[in-house]
Amino acid sequence: MSDYRVLLYYKYVTIENPEQFRVDHLNLCRELNLKGRILVSDEGLNGTVSGSVSDTDKYMTALRSDDRFSDIMFKIDEADAHAFKKMYVRYRPEIVSLKLGEEDLNPNELTGKHLKPEEFRAALEDENTIVLDARNDYEYDLGHFRGAVRPDIRSFRELPQWIKENKEKFMDKKVVTYCTGGVRCEKFSGWLLKEGFKDVGQLHGGIHNYGTDPKTQGELWDGKMYVFDERISVDINRKEKTIIARDWYDGTPCERYVNCGNPFCNRQYITSEKNEHKYLRGCSHECRISPENRYVKEHHLSREDVAARLKAIGEKLPETV
Ligand SMILES: [Zn+2]
Repeated sequence: MSDYRVLLYYKYVTIENPEQFRVDHLNLCRELNLKGRILVSDEGLNGTVSGSVSDTDKYMTALRSDDRFSDIMFKIDEADAHAFKKMYVRYRPEIVSLKLGEEDLNPNELTGKHLKPEEFRAALEDENTIVLDARNDYEYDLGHFRGAVRPDIRSFRELPQWIKENKEKFMDKKVVTYCTGGVRCEKFSGWLLKEGFKDVGQLHGGIHNYGTDPKTQGELWDGKMYVFDERISVDINRKEKTIIARDWYDGTPCERYVNCGNPFCNRQYITSEKNEHKYLRGCSHECRISPENRYVKEHHLSREDVAARLKAIGEKLPETV
């Protein structure tokens, strides 16, 4: 038996006076020894927390006793320890970073059809349905549904713009979207409808729910699912295991993440320890030679050391003027 749990949950609901709610909620979480990250907004609540089985039980009971959250869905993972170091409850203008601005919408008024895991699986198997990954590129690269479209973007908030540019490819088709726990799709699928798409569905409860559902058991999911806590990734497909993630540099199977050493880039990508050293943890030549490269600093590499590493991969330091 695992002693800890990780809870994943959200709810779009009007929160009056979110700042007071934030303070009270932080106190509740601290009393229950929880750790994690919760976003509070006028439009709702979005959180991931870890804690002991009994503390997380108390938390779920406390949240559900509030009428606004009585029907909130908790996605629960068993864990051996806390998945966070600290407890944060922060105010944000929106609970997912989609930055729709003028085009912002309330998913309680407009959102795609909620598909049960088995209905979503049928959509995956239907060749007339486009399955769209509504996450960041580095999440897709670690694992995704078989045949899902990977939008050519780095971050989820670039998705609406990408859709506008590629609209003709999807406009006449049935479109279903998915994300980790469902919170991103609530808004994104609503936006698709607003944008003129006719038949839009979303995976209810997200990938997480699909993986734990007894009927689907994560079938047709390849690789692992990226999570925003210290676990980094979790398994989804309970029927077969595959590694689909590939090393950024040489394309070999790999599931290890690093952040680009150039702090102005900070791209999250997959690579082995060996290649991290070989390529100075830089995702590009420009990032490798950045004067701020954190890898170079952490390893106290001299200019000569850097030049030697670069030479080994056929690159050179720029001439100094
Ligand atoms: Zn980079």
